[in-house]
Amino acid sequence: MAKRFRTESVEPTKDYSGMYLLDIAKDLIFHEELVRESIEANGVTTNVFFSLLCYVICHEYAHIAHGHLDFRLSNDFREFTATQQDSELTARTLEMDADASAVTLTFTLLEQIFLAGIKPRIPAERVEELTAQCRLQYLVGITLAHIFLDSLAGKDTVPRYHPMTYVRFVAFQIVLLKVGESQGIDTDFVEEARKLVVDTFVHLSGDVSNLHHPIAANTMVHEGEGEPVGEYTSLGFHSAAAHLEDCGRRWTRLYPILAKFLRGGRLAPPYADPL
Ligand SMILES: [Zn+2]
Repeated sequence: MAKRFRTESVEPTKDYSGMYLLDIAKDLIFHEELVRESIEANGVTTNVFFSLLCYVICHEYAHIAHGHLDFRLSNDFREFTATQQDSELTARTLEMDADASAVTLTFTLLEQIFLAGIKPRIPAERVEELTAQCRLQYLVGITLAHIFLDSLAGKDTVPRYHPMTYVRFVAFQIVLLKVGESQGIDTDFVEEARKLVVDTFVHLSGDVSNLHHPIAANTMVHEGEGEPVGEYTSLGFHSAAAHLEDCGRRWTRLYPILAKFLRGGRLAPPYADPL
């Protein structure tokens, strides 16, 4: 990552060889002194931290602005919580809505700050390179936000009430690909951001198979007699995306009700048969 962003590479003070991705992430989240030197050396990564923070705040803001809290307190809510399975699907769908809104808001906000405040000051010959670099930094921030939320989640809340974290990650990539397409932006950097983050953890742990996290390897491949090897494949991506179908169908039923409670922002239009 340091090479891609042309910053100084500073190794953490601790050895993470052979450790799982989430164990490394938890250690770094709760012991910032381990990476303080790296943060101090890389002021340029402000975009990454700003985007991470923005994503988390926008997610929580969407729960308020989209009327999720008012809906939960209303009589309408009972209709969607008749069984345990039903309430879990409703809860997951609300989370997906907050995630989708957070991706769009974070990307739009950072893009506007870049276009209005930073781009005009960049020499013409470096505009293309630095635009791509800034966008990649927002995406690295959002990817780290997913890992951050994953690190904080308790065993009891995942995946029953919250979408499984990899499904959330896939949903964020799908929303961003759509946003990019609609704005005519080359979206290769969506996958590049994932790979940059994963490569950093691979560098710390030693091998992608050590990480045991679907953002790093979403498929286990069996080759001969040996241990299965983790790989990142489009098959793994699409099977996670299939989990989004029921949330899309529940969204069709929730949409007209949330529209009554909407305080701000915009709800995504329904697109699937109701469930
Ligand atoms: Zn939430």
